[in-house]
Amino acid sequence: AESPIVWIPRPVHDDALVLLREHADVRLGYGEEATTFEEIADRVVGILLRTARVDGEMMRRAPALSIVARHGVGLDTVDLVTAGQRGITVTTTPTANTRSVAEHTIALLLAVRRGIGIAVRGEGDVRASIQGRELAGSTLGLIGFGRIAASVAHIARHGFGMRVLAFDPMRSAEDIAADGAEPATLAELLAASDAVSLHVPLTPETRSLIGLDELLAMPKGGVVLNTSRGGTLDEAALLTALRRGHLAGAGLDVTVVEPLPADHPLRQEPTVIITPHVGAQTAEAMRRMATDAANRIIEHLS
Ligand code: NAD
Repeated sequence: AESPIVWIPRPVHDDALVLLREHADVRLGYGEEATTFEEIADRVVGILLRTARVDGEMMRRAPALSIVARHGVGLDTVDLVTAGQRGITVTTTPTANTRSVAEHTIALLLAVRRGIGIAVRGEGDVRASIQGRELAGSTLGLIGFGRIAASVAHIARHGFGMRVLAFDPMRSAEDIAADGAEPATLAELLAASDAVSLHVPLTPETRSLIGLDELLAMPKGGVVLNTSRGGTLDEAALLTALRRGHLAGAGLDVTVVEPLPADHPLRQEPTVIITPHVGAQTAEAMRRMATDAANRIIEHLS
């Protein structure tokens, strides 16, 4: 029998091509022998999608198409309604970047607790002005306790000897404990945590979940981290809590507006470390996203 055609419109990690070529006739939409969608639309069975689009019109022109495997988690480039009507499976790679984002969260935590932002800016007698705090023995509060938070908890406990609390009303206390944190209410967590880190999706319930009341409920000298989605942390409240001297600093990989404008007031705060949504940008995560997507296609074909 003929190998099923899998089309990859834009470059992905080579390891994904190696995996797929054992099971499929892989056609690339780029490079020297580029294949356009039009050339294979009547026969294509699978698409491994990174940044390109697969709209309803393309699906209707591809009668054999049965899987669209997305590299990453965003589904905004796939017409899910038409895919559903046509019985086309759509997959994502939700675990591929978990460890990378968890490590980035720890990087921000260390950077804020050790004054690395102030040190790097190097204004005045920097050395005399910095007195850091160790992580060992301090308490980390995780808001939302899914995949990334559980990975952060593991590193924080086993790597740094931190106490870890978690608030996640969708998960049972037993599950939270089994994944390595002490279950807590939001109020308990805020009152006890030297650092609070957000790991929730952005939903109507989580928008501004952490506002001024929550920040002021933390102990003085606390640190706030957000590697989840801008908007879960109220930025105006954060500025107020920092300017009142209640918080010692913050580490943000995500903001309401991305990229954060150069003149944004959060950038004027010396104790705030901002990275431009790069938590998942590692070589390992990029490779895993590609190979996970390839494996979804291989499972689907077999
Ligand atoms: P996940 O789905 O595994 O975990 C999210 C957790 O939040 C779930 O356990 C859920 O029960 C909990 N939750 C939902 N609503 C809540 C609420 N109102 N209060 C408390 N908990 C609530 O997701 P994940 O893979 O761990 O990702 C977590 C966040 O990180 C998401 O916002 C995701 O978009 C973001 N993310 C960021 C980057 C980056 O580059 N910085 C990369 C990947 C993911």
